[in-house]
Amino acid sequence: MRILRTTQAIRTWQYRQKKNKTSIGFVPTMGALHDGHRSLITQARKTCDIVVVSIFVNPLQFDPSEDFGRYPRDLSKDLTICRKEKTDAVFIPQLEDLYPHDFQTTITVNKLSKQWEGEYRPTHFQGVTTIVTKLLNLIQPSQTFFGQKDYQQFLVIRQLIKDLELDAKLTLCPTIREADGLALSSRNQYLLPAQRQQALLLYQALLSGKQAIKNGERRATVVEKRMAATFKAEHPSHIDYLACCDARTLEPLPRIQGKAVLLGALRIGTIRLIDNLVVSVRE
Ligand code: AMP
Repeated sequence: MRILRTTQAIRTWQYRQKKNKTSIGFVPTMGALHDGHRSLITQARKTCDIVVVSIFVNPLQFDPSEDFGRYPRDLSKDLTICRKEKTDAVFIPQLEDLYPHDFQTTITVNKLSKQWEGEYRPTHFQGVTTIVTKLLNLIQPSQTFFGQKDYQQFLVIRQLIKDLELDAKLTLCPTIREADGLALSSRNQYLLPAQRQQALLLYQALLSGKQAIKNGERRATVVEKRMAATFKAEHPSHIDYLACCDARTLEPLPRIQGKAVLLGALRIGTIRLIDNLVVSVRE
């Protein structure tokens, strides 16, 4: 497995692969790899000749008040996982290489970035779209793999690719969960046992919304209320949002039709968790 630490090294590497007409599958991550990330690598392996994983905790996508300094980092464990998954190359860029002192260009997807997560993390998606653009330019992958766990992120990146005519193909992979349904997340390791129980309520709330739709409910506001009812008033966790919206635009849905997404974000102490479920309504 090649370990590439500079932008020059990854450029040279990808140029060689492209010359040999090798298809490159790309999995961008912030490290602290778990089975969710592994599922993306597995999918990339199945689809492309070679797989490159990037590991970079991108400061641009953390608000000053957020956990950039505290974000879990365990490079040797990450490299072991990548080796096990038969990753061909790992790109571990250095901060100063990607963001030299005179760095000043960012990319913003205006509308989609402002809703839901964007309301609570105003600079987050700008950081995501900027780093993803840089990584796509450096790696020039045939296909890039994202998790449904970050559903809004996927839509924002899809819009970025479309608007800027980037030559990139995206694949959305299913959310990997613990046996009880909790979506895997690098931040789960911060949760104390009691907090983990609270975290599980997020998935249960989304499930109750899905069940309501399955039972015939078509009013998004009623579905949202049903989800919120999963949380007792005295519960110490804090809901940022529980929403039922259009799965393509993330706009509110007066009446549920076609593809809807149930989105949720929860704060437990200083830990923030997100999750979602996509629901298709035929009639
Ligand atoms: P991160 O390292 O959190 O930036 O995530 C890197 C990629 O892994 C993103 O495309 C995430 O959506 C994806 N991912 C994170 N958690 C999961 C999960 N539980 N299931 C599937 N994909 C995930």
